[in-house]
Amino acid sequence: MFTRLLAPLVLVTVSGIAYGQSFTPKDMAAAAELRDRAMNDNTAYELVTSLTTEVGPRAAGSPGDRAAVEWAERNLRRLGFSSVRRMDVIVPHWVRGTASFEVRSPYPQSMPVLALGGSIGTADTGLTADIVMVDNLAALKALPPGAVKDRIVFFAGRTERTRDGSGYGKAVQVRAQGPSAAAALGAIGVVIRSIGTSNNRFPHTGALSYNISAPRIPAVALSNPDADALERQVASGKPVTVSMTVSARDLPQTLSANVIGEIPGTDPNAEIVLVGAHLDSWDPGTGALDDGAGVAIVMTAAKLIRETNPKPRRTIRVVLFANEEFGLSGSLTYANKIDEEFSRHAVALESDFGAGPVLQLASRVPANLLPAIQAVQEVVAPLGVEPGGNEANGGADLAPLRRLGMPLIGPQLDGTNYFDVHHTANDTLDQVDPEHIRQAAAVYAVSAYLAAQLPVSWGRNTTPTPAPN
Ligand SMILES: [Zn+2]
Repeated sequence: MFTRLLAPLVLVTVSGIAYGQSFTPKDMAAAAELRDRAMNDNTAYELVTSLTTEVGPRAAGSPGDRAAVEWAERNLRRLGFSSVRRMDVIVPHWVRGTASFEVRSPYPQSMPVLALGGSIGTADTGLTADIVMVDNLAALKALPPGAVKDRIVFFAGRTERTRDGSGYGKAVQVRAQGPSAAAALGAIGVVIRSIGTSNNRFPHTGALSYNISAPRIPAVALSNPDADALERQVASGKPVTVSMTVSARDLPQTLSANVIGEIPGTDPNAEIVLVGAHLDSWDPGTGALDDGAGVAIVMTAAKLIRETNPKPRRTIRVVLFANEEFGLSGSLTYANKIDEEFSRHAVALESDFGAGPVLQLASRVPANLLPAIQAVQEVVAPLGVEPGGNEANGGADLAPLRRLGMPLIGPQLDGTNYFDVHHTANDTLDQVDPEHIRQAAAVYAVSAYLAAQLPVSWGRNTTPTPAPN
């Protein structure tokens, strides 16, 4: 009993707080030095500048996708990564084409739209029908039988602006499931209010998910101001007739790749700390926030760790996933291919929520490791990072590993304005604040470095993960 009580007091941090079985004073000092160096390092901003300028849009299967894979390999090598390689990933290849939307009556005018990702095209002559407006999926299902037969369904529900992205989480069901839900009831087309919070006329795209039990029908998104205008036409009480054309089409599946690079750990028997982001983007913008910033943040974090002493004990593995946006091809392939190597993965982080700043440090780790997360948070507290809960989800690309019990460290970025530009033509470099992305890279660097130094096993999460406090 005496020794168990005494042991934590031996490992005292620079601030004088005991963290039990977590980090040595030397590691804590190195992490603080890493943080300060990161705050003076411009690599992340330079990388997102390079990716958005030299590659630009990079939707799965497109020439930009191939260019992005080459860009990633080239830059990982340039930054001194080891074992730089591709993991082949088969990806769908959907081509957007053009889309148009016109109100025929009662008050004729055209409105800009974007096809939802994966939408089928219409005939060249388009579709013309009366619309039926509903708020959301529940409202659609509550309609009387036959109400949407041969009609175009207009989903008018709004996305709530939130700091943590929960507003998007609630609203996005309509984009994913709305087209098939409407088709199952006999609708011939769908138009949605963009899943986004912007008030300009740029619509937000994003993937739909056709259900095999319903016919495939075309689906487009209107901007918020145009959705408001369409609502006013409906409010006139007169039937609202619209036409839409979509020239999107599916091409055969093609090859893309997860691009991987490592900062080798000093202990060859130690495990891997995975730091991920996705290399693909939607095509209307240049994927600066989604997810060029994430790519830049994780590459920079690992590059800074490479320059840190003491060197990391565990290996830092950066994985730039293929095709997150249109079916998570890269992360599913990764989770399948690592198979027996899964046991070598200690803990994972993902960056796919813009360019910062990080507001909180959340996690999803076994309860006995919460003091280690607290130690990490104390190092980044001077950057304005508060403690988060222990219910982090990582990001979409970590979902397959999370389901297998992989512990996660989840820096929570400020999402207040993220859904103003997400999946729009406005997702461009000017949205990235150089100061904020430096802070985010610093938080990821400190988190991944200390994750590599934890002297005990990260273990595995069992379900349910214990809630904090
Ligand atoms: Zn993303």
